[in-house]
Amino acid sequence: MTKYDINELYDHTQEPFHLKHLLTDLGERTVYDAAAQCNRCGYCETVCPTYMLTGRETISARGRNQFLRLLIEGKTRDIDSARESFSTCLLCGACSSVCYAKVPTPDLVLEGRRSRDGYGRGFAARLGVDLLLNRRGVFELALKAGYLLKRLGLAALAGKLGFYDFLGLPALGAAQDALKHAPLKFLRKILLKDPALKPEGKKEAAWAYFAPCGPNYVFTEVGAATVALLKRFLGPGVFTDNFCCGLLAYNYGRVTEAREFAKKNILRFEELKKALGGFTVVGDCSSCVAFMKSYEQLFTEDEEWRPRAKAFAEAVKDILEALPTDKIKGRGPADGETVTYHDSCRACHGQGIRSEPRETLKKIAGKAFVELPESDWCCGGAGAYAFTQTALSERIADRKIRNIASTQAGTVLAGATSCLLQLNAGLKKKYPSARAVHYSVYMDNLTR
Ligand code: SF4
Ligand code: SF4
Repeated sequence: MTKYDINELYDHTQEPFHLKHLLTDLGERTVYDAAAQCNRCGYCETVCPTYMLTGRETISARGRNQFLRLLIEGKTRDIDSARESFSTCLLCGACSSVCYAKVPTPDLVLEGRRSRDGYGRGFAARLGVDLLLNRRGVFELALKAGYLLKRLGLAALAGKLGFYDFLGLPALGAAQDALKHAPLKFLRKILLKDPALKPEGKKEAAWAYFAPCGPNYVFTEVGAATVALLKRFLGPGVFTDNFCCGLLAYNYGRVTEAREFAKKNILRFEELKKALGGFTVVGDCSSCVAFMKSYEQLFTEDEEWRPRAKAFAEAVKDILEALPTDKIKGRGPADGETVTYHDSCRACHGQGIRSEPRETLKKIAGKAFVELPESDWCCGGAGAYAFTQTALSERIADRKIRNIASTQAGTVLAGATSCLLQLNAGLKKKYPSARAVHYSVYMDNLTR
């Protein structure tokens, strides 16, 4: 018998760590009812990467939903298998895309992970989330110190000193080799200095740029390119001067803090709306954008915040869908280099974005654009997954890299930070003639 009691792994009375209701494609459901919607047809087994590579039922979507249901019913004592089942899920959502019963497996897996036995309650995760939420200056100073060590060639030392663990960003530490450069000036500071992005003096704006943590702290050139594209094709806009969307906290099991992040961003949105009227909030990391589109789910029990979260979510768009295809003009790649497109999971499965970026790309790149086989197969990045499930992550990435190589593309486009880190790490090792580039950076270059 394991030392864990059943109710210690899943105890929904631990309010701050659990959601009571999920907003599924079939309507609002309790967590149990959402899990019980799974009729065990197994259709999802044809797309679930962890099942397809291992053939193991316990690490398939059906197996995961079954574990959660049994845990809630108090009918399983196999806690170690349940933990493995939940922790190996990529949260990619491929299963939900093909599921006729619309079972929201990624949200159910996160419910399963939010246990009383450690997940999200470790010192590093708590401190990292708390710093980002309440002491952003300290968080940024520590991150810069880690980056400085990297620039001095002491990246390994930064890892050993536990800088990234301390910040709750172990994936960033593990991805150091994939980081071409580590910015010492963060995007938020740069954008706050741009007079064209200030809301003061404006009566209206077509868009407001939301800087996700990836572009803000890692790939600042992505945010700069997105803003340039928005100015060029949508007219004047503003910078939201936002906080982290809260996904980091949410994925670490810190639901209460995720709500705090969401509230800060909703308040900022409401302030801007008062001054500028309606506008679209555009972000350029699909994971964060998909999460912001689901803000209402964080507040199903809160009469005051639920409609406010819904209004915010309805204004949010991914840069992958925000550009008006009919107005886009540009030139193809000068060297005719082949370009392909990887569907980030939280874009295609999380938001249903598939055709928009392709239409725009075809218009710009013409015949240089080729489709990627299995383009919506996860790259294995999945936030901290490459760090926590290294072996499985590499097998998932290998299949993606083989598919990229089959197109002979020199550039593969993606719309999420985690994909850029993971794809570039994999390409460097197994197909170094190609590189992964953010969609915004590519589009900005060819439409100037
Ligand atoms: S999650 Fe959906 S597709 Fe998978 S077994 Fe359950 S009902 Fe079938
Ligand atoms: S979210 Fe992805 S890895 Fe997890 S069960 Fe669904 S398809 Fe499998």
